[in-house]
Amino acid sequence: MSQNDVFLRILFSFMILSSYNLSKSFILSPAIRTHRNLATLSVLRSVEVDGCDEIPATKRRLWFPVKPQDALLNQYNTIVKGAYVRHVLVETEDMADVAIKTYLKGDMDSQDPFGLLASDLSACSLSRDEGGKVGWIMNPFHISAATQTNEEKIRIDHNSNVAVYPLISEYAIEQLFEVRPKGGDVFKIPSSLSSNRPKWHICRIDDLLLDYLPNSGQANLESDSDLFTDEMDKKGTNKVFSKRPKLKGSGTLPKTPNIIIPTSATSIDPKRPIAKTYQIITNGCQMNVADSERLEGVLQKQLNLLPIYSSTPQEDALLVSTPSSTKSTSDSKSPDIIVINTCTIRDHAEQKVYNALGPYAARKRAGKAIAIVVAGCVAQQEGENLLRRVPEVDLVMGPQYVNRLADLLDDVSRGHQVVATDPTLLTEDLSRPIRGHKVRAWVNIIHGCNEHCTYCVVPGTRGVEQSRSMEHVLKECLDLASLGYKEITLLGQNIDAYGRDMTPKRTFADLLHYLNDHIPSGTIERIRYVTSHPRYFSDRVIDAVASLDKVCECFHMPFQSGDDEILRKMRRGYTFDSYMKIIQKIRDRAPDASICGDVIVGFPGETDDAFQRTLDLMNAVRFDNLNTFAYSPRPNTEAALWEKQVPDDVKSERLQIVQRLSTQHALERSERYLGKRVEVLVEDRNPKHIGQVMGRTRQNRQVFFEGDFQTLEGKVVHVDITEARPWSLTGILV
Ligand code: SF4
Repeated sequence: MSQNDVFLRILFSFMILSSYNLSKSFILSPAIRTHRNLATLSVLRSVEVDGCDEIPATKRRLWFPVKPQDALLNQYNTIVKGAYVRHVLVETEDMADVAIKTYLKGDMDSQDPFGLLASDLSACSLSRDEGGKVGWIMNPFHISAATQTNEEKIRIDHNSNVAVYPLISEYAIEQLFEVRPKGGDVFKIPSSLSSNRPKWHICRIDDLLLDYLPNSGQANLESDSDLFTDEMDKKGTNKVFSKRPKLKGSGTLPKTPNIIIPTSATSIDPKRPIAKTYQIITNGCQMNVADSERLEGVLQKQLNLLPIYSSTPQEDALLVSTPSSTKSTSDSKSPDIIVINTCTIRDHAEQKVYNALGPYAARKRAGKAIAIVVAGCVAQQEGENLLRRVPEVDLVMGPQYVNRLADLLDDVSRGHQVVATDPTLLTEDLSRPIRGHKVRAWVNIIHGCNEHCTYCVVPGTRGVEQSRSMEHVLKECLDLASLGYKEITLLGQNIDAYGRDMTPKRTFADLLHYLNDHIPSGTIERIRYVTSHPRYFSDRVIDAVASLDKVCECFHMPFQSGDDEILRKMRRGYTFDSYMKIIQKIRDRAPDASICGDVIVGFPGETDDAFQRTLDLMNAVRFDNLNTFAYSPRPNTEAALWEKQVPDDVKSERLQIVQRLSTQHALERSERYLGKRVEVLVEDRNPKHIGQVMGRTRQNRQVFFEGDFQTLEGKVVHVDITEARPWSLTGILV
């Protein structure tokens, strides 16, 4: 044993003496092994649907899964084939407790705290110098899709893990998969059942290996395509790819999936056209824009397809703001693969998608080779209905399948009409997103939402919350830093929920500290995030914003209504007063911070008095920026079914009132910058004024000033403010 090892052992023994009582919630010890079902019980959260007279009392309690594994019901072992695992081996359970506690404290001076733990403490000489690497371990309980309906074939397959047995025992592997881990989880598990004093593994799941299981039907093997010549038919070259099963409902029978995706080209009919180009049309929020960047990553980097940036009237009607839409029209050729990434927030969203699909479906009916993909929230919501109404569609995929696009298109190549909307677990991206901007980038940190606000479709379309591990988020940020990015915006529907699905739990404040500490100075200068939830917002996040140099002083805190009764019906979980307490804390700790919000007017049951309380809240806060919405009943949401819907003319009048008031407040907030010098990160040219550039303050106010974009792009400069408008400022470069 080296001198260094001796020192570490002594240090570790000392740590054991002061060991902590860790929560047992993420521990599977031999004592509870006999109750293995405990580890696989679903965890559900109930919410009251109170305040809604229209719902009978007996039906007012709803139950929802809390962890993504619970949303899978019994499918975990069908979906999860394996996991990439690292471990730290220690002598006793107490040592394991201390090691986990050290890891959780997060103040280790390393971008990879688990790797540091392994190199400092692990008794496993085979993996200690490799950050504790064990490698891919196959799930011994995995049930292949082919046998999933036959319980007789469920077995424990130990042979699949022969290569890793020197590092980790069969027993430990079984223990690991019995707790149904997901990416980022850390568990302690004993190495054996038989020994009185087993060694303990602290295992970290870096990533999962999933079986791809579309819930589509089988391909129709009959040949009936007029795209292929008789000669080809005779040779049997297109037997697999023909028209697909007839679906109920209106619409023309689909033609064959008449195009091949490049990765399938070698194994499928070589005479069919191979896709070379794609186009993505994106509708909706930042989350969808970020998803489209990931879709582009798969299409370009995994499938070697070329983008086409063109715009038709139909696309314009659907398009809101996308990286692609901002690029110039370089080629008006039709794409071989069209991806429509849809959003369901706005009124008539579904109809707009059907309208947008029309020209592509017509092109396909005319015999042109094209694959039609509908992604995003409308796809998730409509599922197979989309195929019934537009049978020419090849692939319907929900947001959880974004980084599985290559697999799904491969299935399309093979003749399937695919619907991928079942709940699944997320894995890390194989290919990096194609970013829509050179200076700032989105980074997803948590997908889905567990909140079930009564007006919102997101939990139904994006599923149960799934946080990415802090290490993977940091890795993405470091990649962006090496590419010259200066600003990142962390994305989550409810960002304050970050880490509560992890084992053991982490918090959003932990992540902010970790990123701020480990992103090197002089690279990424600014960290932003959206969107906070007043119910979960913590003082630690305010402290982080106030104290961490890279985290911008900008809070986005949707309030939706100022009336307590409406907030209760929305199931938001806070009141006028509790919201104002948060605002007060922000003003105390970070007086110069900007505060933005979202408001919905015309929610069912909103009276004039209730609306007045919304205006009262706006007057009390005086938001820097406010996103205003008139309530629109969305499919599959509770509030859509309620009586007491507010008439459209009242909604529109209230919307105008809040917009006028928020513009007035925004101007007041802008005017505080007049005559001051502000720090601006230069992002773009001013498209309306040649010779001007546009940047933002740390508080996210747009600033325009004269300057050379080529020299200033991505630089942080100082600007003296000379003009203030509600949403932007003008100044002079210092
Ligand atoms: S409004 Fe936000 S917090 Fe509420 S369910 Fe929708 S995404 Fe979740």
